[in-house]
Amino acid sequence: MELVERDHPGTVRRHLSAEEAAAVRRFCADGQQVRPEDVRLVEAVLEEMHDGRHVRLWLECDCVRAPGGRPRLTARMREDGPRHFVRMHQYGEHHCALASFRQTPEPEDVETDDDRARPGQHNPLRPVGDALDYLDNLHEGAARPGGSTGSEGDVGERGRRLPRLGRILHTLLEDADFARLHVEALNEKFRSWERLEAFAAGQALSPQLSLSQILYFKPWTPLNRKMAEIDALVWPERKARSALLLFVADEIRAGVAIKKTSMGDCVVRPEKGIRAGGRDQRLTQPPYWVLSVVDRDRDGNARVREAFAQCAYSFAQPVPMESRYERVTLKMLFGVMEWVRKHGVEVTLWKPLFDREVRQTDKPSLWCRPDFELTFRSTAASGVALRLHRLVIETMGGDDPDYLERKSRTQEIMQRRGILIEHRVADDAGQKERDDVFFRRVAAKILHLAGVPQARPV
Ligand SMILES: [Zn+2]
Repeated sequence: MELVERDHPGTVRRHLSAEEAAAVRRFCADGQQVRPEDVRLVEAVLEEMHDGRHVRLWLECDCVRAPGGRPRLTARMREDGPRHFVRMHQYGEHHCALASFRQTPEPEDVETDDDRARPGQHNPLRPVGDALDYLDNLHEGAARPGGSTGSEGDVGERGRRLPRLGRILHTLLEDADFARLHVEALNEKFRSWERLEAFAAGQALSPQLSLSQILYFKPWTPLNRKMAEIDALVWPERKARSALLLFVADEIRAGVAIKKTSMGDCVVRPEKGIRAGGRDQRLTQPPYWVLSVVDRDRDGNARVREAFAQCAYSFAQPVPMESRYERVTLKMLFGVMEWVRKHGVEVTLWKPLFDREVRQTDKPSLWCRPDFELTFRSTAASGVALRLHRLVIETMGGDDPDYLERKSRTQEIMQRRGILIEHRVADDAGQKERDDVFFRRVAAKILHLAGVPQARPV
């Protein structure tokens, strides 16, 4: 195996030692036992490949001899969580142990049932790591090994289950940058399709298949035409032929998703229904992101098989949300972002769709998923280094004791990620006053941390 330059893949930077290559194969091949020293070797290789901001090197595997036909791995690093390998399907499949790839070894002691007693120590909810896993395996129905792509859904924090299709939707939204909003983008025109198209074009599922060939955004496209296109493609072995339809629906009612167009309502009717993410199970808070699987039934008829819906803030800013309470919080936060900008502080808002890591020295990391995070830097005028600050915002919506208890258990973990500010949202006459207090608290905290002198109270 060798490390090649990403910008000049013909240039070999160095060859991996035999120990390093074996460590990578044990770490990333399904069913292999990882040795204690492997982790350090793999982390060092990943660090060479990804400097924390950009990918510098790719790892080329020598299991295929043909020059130019060698499979490659790249390194990825998300907002949170460690660097990891990602298969680059466009360069072909491995003939070595990496043919059955896993991003990280399975944790030894997976606790999925009850993490109530140990807040933050659950098996974290993570994005779908490999674009090939967007497709169902052929003969689905048999239990899938590993669980990370299993159709039973993944358990993050208790009470926050996410079915597999939901996990794919969240991965797409996060990777195409819908879960992050810089203050400058607040008044930008919504250009989500361009963003999604550009993203999909860069994702390969095989040397012959890119995500842009299966992911489409126009619900009025005839199903027969879409499936005829899918049938004509060179398809990965062991995967079922299907397409993914992603759009923002105006309304969901009685099991159908509706997109209003100048030609009238376009109706998407998934055969197996629409599942919802978050606390909004009745689907009465439009608009919605909707991700549908389009395939053929047993008789060969094209159909929409199933769909997953997630509430979005608005058509203009389709930040995904968990509940109508979060919409109230988000509206306030957008206001704060505009306001502190006048004082020279530029805030970026994050909607964590997956668990965020809280590192501990000498102990396993803890995991939490705050409702929102705000990041910003100290202003130059403050005279201190341009430090990055983080506020963690939790919406306390409703009075369900079980829900409030769950929230309170994770507070301590969230406080380690940033300064925690809660916003209580309820359906009563006191909301306006609570909103005003919340606005002033967040704005004052941001100005203070950023080093902006406050002559008068906010
Ligand atoms: Zn290989």
